Amino acid sequence: METHIAYCSACDRDVRIVLPDTPMHDAQAPVTDGEIVCLEVGERCTGALCPIGAVSPTAMKVRRVRSGVRAVLQPVVKAECERCGRVTDYCIVSAEYATCVDCGTTVGRGDLTLVLGRDG
Ligand SMILES: [Zn+2]
Repeated sequence: METHIAYCSACDRDVRIVLPDTPMHDAQAPVTDGEIVCLEVGERCTGALCPIGAVSPTAMKVRRVRSGVRAVLQPVVKAECERCGRVTDYCIVSAEYATCVDCGTTVGRGDLTLVLGRDG
């Protein structure tokens, strides 16, 4: 993945974005908005819509989790993932949703089976 700088009209500043890897045989294909990941959504961005990808900040955070880029400030919990069939890290992407770091599944936080530590 390549990191680029793009101007975000919602934040009124430059932000870091990631463009997806482009397969060699498809080098001429234009990058679509659906593949761009903003790395700074949720950190200082408070907009209702991310102008970088024309999706909600929550959807952008899900994309970021799926892209494999870890956000420093993004809270992570341990939970049982039904798709992975084991305990994985879930990134909290909004008040209502969390996304599996391993498989990208997004579930309601109320549906998560959290795995607590010994003190939990
Ligand atoms: Zn999973």
